[in-house]
Amino acid sequence: MSALRGRVLWPISPDRAVMLPDGVVEPGLLTPRPAGTGDPDPVEGTIVPAFSDWHFHWVQLGLPPADGKRLLTWLRESAWPAEERFSDVHHAAAEAPAAIERLYAAGTVAGAAYGSPHVESADAFLRAAPPSFICGPALMTDGEPDALRQPLPHAVAGLRRLVTRHPRRTVVSPRFGPSVRPEAMAALGQFARSAGLFIQAHLAETPDEIVQALGLHPDAGDYTAIYENAGLIGSRTLLGHAIHVSDDELRRIAAARGIVVHCPSSNGALGSGRMPLERLRAAGVRWVLGSDVGAGPSLCMLDAVSAALEVHDGHAELTAVEALHRATVGPAGLFSGSEGRRLRRLGDRPGALVIETPDVELSERDPEVWIRSWVDRWRATGDAGIIRTANWDRRGDVRHSVGPTA
Ligand SMILES: [Zn+2]
Repeated sequence: MSALRGRVLWPISPDRAVMLPDGVVEPGLLTPRPAGTGDPDPVEGTIVPAFSDWHFHWVQLGLPPADGKRLLTWLRESAWPAEERFSDVHHAAAEAPAAIERLYAAGTVAGAAYGSPHVESADAFLRAAPPSFICGPALMTDGEPDALRQPLPHAVAGLRRLVTRHPRRTVVSPRFGPSVRPEAMAALGQFARSAGLFIQAHLAETPDEIVQALGLHPDAGDYTAIYENAGLIGSRTLLGHAIHVSDDELRRIAAARGIVVHCPSSNGALGSGRMPLERLRAAGVRWVLGSDVGAGPSLCMLDAVSAALEVHDGHAELTAVEALHRATVGPAGLFSGSEGRRLRRLGDRPGALVIETPDVELSERDPEVWIRSWVDRWRATGDAGIIRTANWDRRGDVRHSVGPTA
């Protein structure tokens, strides 16, 4: 089967969603179309695009909630110990298939993942994941903890092996400023550019982190310059968080066509602050949404949508249609030219969800009302109402995964 038919709500841009009482979505179709003869029977529920999560740490799945711990404490007490276990390649291989099942259950069929610093963790994830996911080891050549640090030549040799196995899906991922010194950052930038790879890193999540980062990079004028000086910011770069940034940094990120991944649920859990969405808009910075699990409390991107609507209320313009767009099909439009073609090959329309039709008048034609009703249910019950996650495989067939949301 290569199409889904039923009631459809499909954001096609940040400010517009198509609603059809009887529509069809299928691979390669940019916009849903009305159903006709020969289409399959309609499904119960409402069809929306499947989620894309552009910032999560698959090796941190299942960690206890951050519970108000701040970033650097949480990393030391929760994240590092969890990631140290991935030094065992068998642990990574055993955990990866379950991680993919959890992503499907949460409605996510595409996105960008961090592994632990061990290259085998990224390899295990990419082997288990459909082609719409990209991943890289969270590289740490300096800083704490001892157990996760590795010399630069070792890290680069690992990346080379990963690129050989996954040439289009390897992400060069210097974890953050405090974990990679300038010479190593420059070498990673060179490697990423020469191989034409995606890049991801954390940017200016908390003031403490910024102090640590600039301590290791005394010549960088600000956090953004740490990556900029290494040639790591371009149209294939995903920068997580970008909370404590100046207008000048935002202007430079926009000029380089970097993409900020906004992780509002994680930022709330760690008390990191509010990403200044209104300033990103003013600077013209492109952005998408991510869960940042394990610091983020849920793998379900409806939680990120909900947190975004909540945190920007009264501060920045944000509609539910735009939030859903940036958690689903939106990212595909961000990558133009060769990156766009590459992502389309990876599957920029990788799937759809069938979710319970909200308790609204079916004659209601405002998608904002429908999406906010889903968000309200999520807030009240922690249930996204996902009936089915459908992802299209390489042949265009639908694969189904049914389960509760994570
Ligand atoms: Zn993160």
